[in-house]
Amino acid sequence: MINFNVPPYTGKEVEYMKEAIENQKICGDGPFTKKCNEWIEEETGTAKCLLTTSCTHATEMAAFLADIKEGDEVILPSYTFVSTANAFVLRGAKAVFVDIRPDTMNIDEKLIEDAITERTRAIAPVHYAGVGCEMDEIMDIAKRHNLAVIEDAAQGIMASYKGKALGTFGEFGCFSFHETKNFSMGEGGALLIRDKENIEAAEILREKGTDRSKYYRGQVDKYRWQNYGSSYLPSDLNAAYLYAQLELAQEITQARLARWEQYKELLTPLEKEGKIELPFIPEHCTHNAHMFYIKTKDMDERSRLIEYLKKKEILSVFHYIPLHSAPAGIKYGRFHGEDKYTTKESERILRLPMFYKLTADEVEYITEQIKEFYKYEA
Ligand SMILES: *Cc1c(COP(=O)(O)O)cnc(C)c1O
Repeated sequence: MINFNVPPYTGKEVEYMKEAIENQKICGDGPFTKKCNEWIEEETGTAKCLLTTSCTHATEMAAFLADIKEGDEVILPSYTFVSTANAFVLRGAKAVFVDIRPDTMNIDEKLIEDAITERTRAIAPVHYAGVGCEMDEIMDIAKRHNLAVIEDAAQGIMASYKGKALGTFGEFGCFSFHETKNFSMGEGGALLIRDKENIEAAEILREKGTDRSKYYRGQVDKYRWQNYGSSYLPSDLNAAYLYAQLELAQEITQARLARWEQYKELLTPLEKEGKIELPFIPEHCTHNAHMFYIKTKDMDERSRLIEYLKKKEILSVFHYIPLHSAPAGIKYGRFHGEDKYTTKESERILRLPMFYKLTADEVEYITEQIKEFYKYEA
């Protein structure tokens, strides 16, 4: 059976976790958390990175830090994971969904401005499949309307837009290290903070509302309750696991990109015949091979292909029931404008196996089975 996902594993994770135990520092903000934060700061160029317990939590922190309140509106795509919306809905804001571009499946930047009202406070673009949204346009709109930008870069580590790392454009960027992502710590994430003046508030929010981070650095002699807060820091055991993978980030990314290119090359004939569509990467975007997907003719064809591949021992999956059509989306959000592509494209997308140790032989086998299936499709 070829699984859809196999969590990344390099072999060094256990050694580092053992080291964390021997450090006698397994709570949050130990040596490995620091190493991960610094690694991400170096790699992305962000002013500050704080490891979190998930991308969901990083986004929640961003919603707090951007001071999103009851009655505010936040613009985001409906084609995304629930966490993008939850973070703002938890603050009492309304999710205002706009349509996606069918080529990248990212929010259509040209539709954002029309969705802005006097209640709009933020835009939350999602870099789907690690392919950048049109950040020049989005940042320009945000600037003109005085809106915060919170990037859901859950899938976007090691990817860039015009040479700049995803997650570093807006005030806040959020990474995920869930086991389905390119690098993992089981459950985990990171908050990227663009502006130095927001760092202290983020540290306090993440450390139960206290200035414990300052205390650890010796900047204050005792730590106290400074503001409302929660606990968003992961154990150093998990950070140790992640660090083993960040050290090999280039190698892991290159391995994934090689399989991605192979899929693309082997499936291009089917695309030329008009049977399927393949992902599109804009010239100014460098992606990270987070995902390889194809688009079938419609939902019915997709269901049959999933079944066919399952019989050939290949697991393929689809995702995102558009948020605006889900019970909570109806309650907490609204779709602005026409749903031209969100629903239609979400019904055609099919994700193929993609993980660090996927082999060239496996990709060849998978693409052969897809070609076999389409021999009999009109
Ligand atoms: C994975 C993912 C998340 C959630 O990440 P967690 O770390 O599991 O909280 C949020 N948004 C998108 C687009 C994702 O792919």
